[in-house]
Amino acid sequence: MSPSNKVAIIGSGAAGLMAALAAARAGADVTIYEHNNSVGKKILASGNGRCNIINTTVSSKDYAGVDPSFTAYALQQLTFQAFETLMHSIGLLLECKSDGRCYPLSNEAKAVLIAFKNAVTDAGVKILTEKKVTALTKEKKGFIVHCEDEKSVYDKVLIATGSQAAPQLGATDDGYRFAHSFGHKIISQYPSLVQLHLNSKIHHKMAGVKTFAEVTLVIDNKPLTKVKGDILFASYGISGLAILDISQNASYALMKKQRVTLEINLLPHFDTQTLGVTLEKLFDDVPNRPIETVLSTLLPTKTIVYLCEEIAVNPLKAVSSLSEKEIQKLIHLIQNWKFEVNGTHGFKHAEVSGGGVATEQINDKTMESKLISGLYFAGEVLDIVGRRGGYNFNFAWASGMIAGKEMGK
Ligand SMILES: Cc1cc2nc3c(=O)[nH]c(=O)nc-3n(C[C@H](O)[C@H](O)[C@H](O)COP(=O)(O)OP(=O)(O)OC[C@H]3O[C@@H](n4cnc5c(N)ncnc54)[C@H](O)[C@@H]3O)c2cc1C
Repeated sequence: MSPSNKVAIIGSGAAGLMAALAAARAGADVTIYEHNNSVGKKILASGNGRCNIINTTVSSKDYAGVDPSFTAYALQQLTFQAFETLMHSIGLLLECKSDGRCYPLSNEAKAVLIAFKNAVTDAGVKILTEKKVTALTKEKKGFIVHCEDEKSVYDKVLIATGSQAAPQLGATDDGYRFAHSFGHKIISQYPSLVQLHLNSKIHHKMAGVKTFAEVTLVIDNKPLTKVKGDILFASYGISGLAILDISQNASYALMKKQRVTLEINLLPHFDTQTLGVTLEKLFDDVPNRPIETVLSTLLPTKTIVYLCEEIAVNPLKAVSSLSEKEIQKLIHLIQNWKFEVNGTHGFKHAEVSGGGVATEQINDKTMESKLISGLYFAGEVLDIVGRRGGYNFNFAWASGMIAGKEMGK
């Protein structure tokens, strides 16, 4: 342990707190700078207040970025078992679901924050809240952390400022700015795990309709991925877990000015043939009832009038009036309802952001800059974005731990 090893950590999110703990436990003199009035605001807001803290099964395949394999070493260092042991050491018990998602046993994100705050305080970390870092420079004597009212000198600095997602929780693009000032390449950012905007005249009329569907994401007329889950029409477009799950690919394609379309299968439990047989039987059973009434046994009522509009049939007419061709068109539409995506709901509503500090200039074994010795990066500020399921915290913890251990040496 070197008494002169002064470490500054900019940002008190998952990556910053984990790094602070690891560095302080390794003997460094650690100071955290946080511009919010309290630490870990995203941790508190995460997982609808429950904090999906990690996933028991993780690999580089759960991430996107220019080079997702950058995550591999860090993820191997912080296995789920190692993470759980570490959490027990700071007084936090976890509960994991059968799909691998883990939460604090209390089901309250607050428990995660309390455990980390106590652990870093016990390890001797100084936490400076309401301290916005305005610039970072390097001189002969070390790194200078500039705040509005003071400057301090450190041997090593970790940039753990996160991404621009959810600025209402304190997110800034400062980390990119600091990195860029040291010559680091920054990959363009885009919102991810975010609701999508639709170019249609009907989505807002179906606002509030929530249903289980299969969504195919089509980029420049080529199907890219299919996801089953809830969708929710909204005044601005579409939301729901299935939409969040495809949003990274959709948002990235939009940034690249590609054409983005959703094909929605409203009845994914039926194959086309079974749906045909089911409808035929239903229509035979109640031939004189209006189309609208008969279809309401299968589909959300608010969608029916617009499905009928699209195939140009009157929903008030009896089902017996439908021709075979119209029935085929209806079946096709129910299983392939197309909507053009023309934007996302933006960084304010996004859980995370894609893009960030290019990983090619960072050592994946230490999280140290390959350009500037003593400068480290961890968490979402890097060009790594995870899918839904605890993977974003997973990488923030793992990269923060590696950076912290290294800085503590
Ligand atoms: C609503 C919501 C729910 C989420 N739920 C989950 C979930 O359940 N599971 C999951 O895995 N992920 C979830 N995420 C994503 C997850 O929160 C992030 O990926 C993770 O917090 C990233 O950690 P980080 O430490 O890199 O950055 P952050 O947590 O964003 O921390 C960065 C910190 O830096 C501070 N900062 C920024 N600029 C400065 C500056 N100039 N000076 C001083 N301080 C500064 C910020 O205030 C912030 O506290 C969710 C995100 C949101 C918004």
